[in-house]
Amino acid sequence: MPRKPFPLLTAAIPILFSTILMTGCGAASALTPSSTSPTQPPASDNLQNQAAIASLSADPSQLVLAPGAHHTLHIYAITSDQKKAAVQPADIHFQSGGAEISIDPNGTITAAPDASTGDVAEITISYDNHRITVPVEVKYSLSETASTDASGDHVVNNMVDRAVLVNKQRKLPDGYVPPDLVVPHVPFSFTQMNERKYMRKEAADALEQLFAAAKNDGYQLYGVSGYRSYKTQKSLFDMYVRTQGETEAKRFSAIPGHSEHQTGLAIDVSSSDVHFNLDQSFGNTPEAKWLAEHADEYGFIIRYPQDKEAITGYAYEPWHIRYVGKQLAKEIYTNHLTLEQFFDDAQVVLARQQN
Ligand SMILES: [Zn+2]
Repeated sequence: MPRKPFPLLTAAIPILFSTILMTGCGAASALTPSSTSPTQPPASDNLQNQAAIASLSADPSQLVLAPGAHHTLHIYAITSDQKKAAVQPADIHFQSGGAEISIDPNGTITAAPDASTGDVAEITISYDNHRITVPVEVKYSLSETASTDASGDHVVNNMVDRAVLVNKQRKLPDGYVPPDLVVPHVPFSFTQMNERKYMRKEAADALEQLFAAAKNDGYQLYGVSGYRSYKTQKSLFDMYVRTQGETEAKRFSAIPGHSEHQTGLAIDVSSSDVHFNLDQSFGNTPEAKWLAEHADEYGFIIRYPQDKEAITGYAYEPWHIRYVGKQLAKEIYTNHLTLEQFFDDAQVVLARQQN
């Protein structure tokens, strides 16, 4: 026997829901009988006139939380005559499918403070014989992961995060050296030992898998330039400024502290066809085409895509790949995003927000 919707005058619902939107917190209690109009007919009469529940609905229907943030879902029924109706809060059952994302009996979803960007969970909501799911994703907020230093630069505080965003607006803290640099076992365009061979462990492991998969498909990639210390970046940038002028230098080289290579998560790759050059000619090689199509499967993105200079601040670099992890890489590649576009505080419930 399907359950009837919780008795509530449908005319009162828009008012109740606008109240929920205004107040946020404690919205579930607004759906209890005490909040309905005292002039409402007795519950038994009302029930007889109401259609059965056809489905459940959740507001919001999907959610992006910053690590440590929480947000309360509002659940209501849709009746067979397409009207919204309240449900008994005590009879709703919530379950989270992810370890880093939890939900309490009131429908408040919380991302663990140490959750990683790219962690996802499906929240299952059951009521009577009805069930819906709400996808939840963890994404750090740009504003909560950077502070402004004395010279007005935005300095990131999540430099160890594999999803850290470093660009012309956001720099690494002075003196930052990644904690776990190793040399990936892949072919390089040079033989001598050099800091350029290093990457962070997780990125190095992924690079080995990427190169092995390329080779398996008949394409030989070479590492050209991985980790770059602040000091090296400084001498490189100064040299470009001397030879090409500051404006041109900034199109393809980073101001020290602003280079992704200093994160240990980026590497420039090339092929022997173009003599290991890092220029547009690499983009036309079969190796580069394979790379653009498959990098995401191993957690890498082409960080500075074609026609995105206005967003990334850099001209197209088919050779510069950045490790972000498989989940993010897939989302960024599939939706033709840049890392800058992936992060959007307007879509994220921030940890410092009250809700
Ligand atoms: Zn690069």
